[in-house]
Amino acid sequence: MSVTPRADLAAIPDYNTPGQAPGAIVLNSNEVPQPPPPPVVEAMARAAAEGHRYPEWFSDTLVSRLSADLAVPGERMAVGCGSVSLCRDLIQAVCGPGDEVLFAWRSFDAYSVFTRVAEARARTVPLDAEHRHDLTAMLDAVTPATRVVFLCNPNNPTGTALGEPALREFLRRLPDRILVVLDEAYREFVTDPAVPDGVELAREHGNLAVLRTFSKAYGLAGVRVGYCVAPPAVVSALHKVSVPFAVSRLAQAAALAALDHAEDVRERCAAVVRERERLREHLLRDGYPVPPSQANFLWLPLAHRTSGFTDFCARHGILVRAFPDEGVRVTVGLPQENDAFLNAASRFASESRTGPGPDRPLNGHDLRAT
Ligand code: PMP
Repeated sequence: MSVTPRADLAAIPDYNTPGQAPGAIVLNSNEVPQPPPPPVVEAMARAAAEGHRYPEWFSDTLVSRLSADLAVPGERMAVGCGSVSLCRDLIQAVCGPGDEVLFAWRSFDAYSVFTRVAEARARTVPLDAEHRHDLTAMLDAVTPATRVVFLCNPNNPTGTALGEPALREFLRRLPDRILVVLDEAYREFVTDPAVPDGVELAREHGNLAVLRTFSKAYGLAGVRVGYCVAPPAVVSALHKVSVPFAVSRLAQAAALAALDHAEDVRERCAAVVRERERLREHLLRDGYPVPPSQANFLWLPLAHRTSGFTDFCARHGILVRAFPDEGVRVTVGLPQENDAFLNAASRFASESRTGPGPDRPLNGHDLRAT
């Protein structure tokens, strides 16, 4: 083949995609463990019967519904094929070659990839010692070329969250020519009252965009739909850069039905939060320095033990997400899945102290290579 792709793409690291193994306990993708509620599945089936028709171009019905629920004018709202596509479109809508996109690191890895694909420059600021955004250092990192700042709240993969005073101060001090994208993909799992509601902040700050998704709390990761509250000019620009018909008829129907079952969502999130706190307590007791999480996952800053831990879990049929030499992110699963994970983590901790014991199954889970 003589066709050559863009040369600069070779320098962009591939996504850290989650591993898969048939029959494994999957705690590596920040999904919720239950399928969507039956009425949501039924709404998708009804939409499928009209699969020969294109969906609404800009998801107008869903935009109207979200706009009414959140009391945000429709001109400030856009729907996308998952919030990840809105991350990409926001960069595309605001940045040209050489512009800078600022974000904390480590954070959601898509920010870096999309920035570079747009030929913009990524400027990253390390998280602080408690695995939180260092907002002072981020302000210091702003340059005349900065066009977009991503704040991931709670942060993926550390689960840490910014409180309202710090965020307000940041917004007050940042030049308002810069678009702040507050990524609230995990908003529904937040229990700390100090963590602000981004949509409320967006009412006061004309340069703030807020990203949310149906993938996590609403259990629709496989259906692909998310939304964004943004300044009207940014929404118009999003409409220019987004892929037409990207949000399928099924996805729009599922999101609308899911909004009708908000009580189910709240109950599921409460169960995740209970398990999150139980997991963290056990892990702390086993000596893992796990930061408090406001999301549906926990961060184990294992540094050089990251791959050893991940392989150990995989041998026990449990998939977690490794960030090599940094740490492991584990998603909260069903109670029995979490028990299996805790058993593996306990055994890894004790073997790290005393050396490996016999390779026996944990809680009935077969040892298997993945
Ligand atoms: N933002 C963050 C912080 C995420 O972790 C994710 C999913 N991993 C997304 C956005 C994208 O989610 P989705 O495209 O499924 O809405």
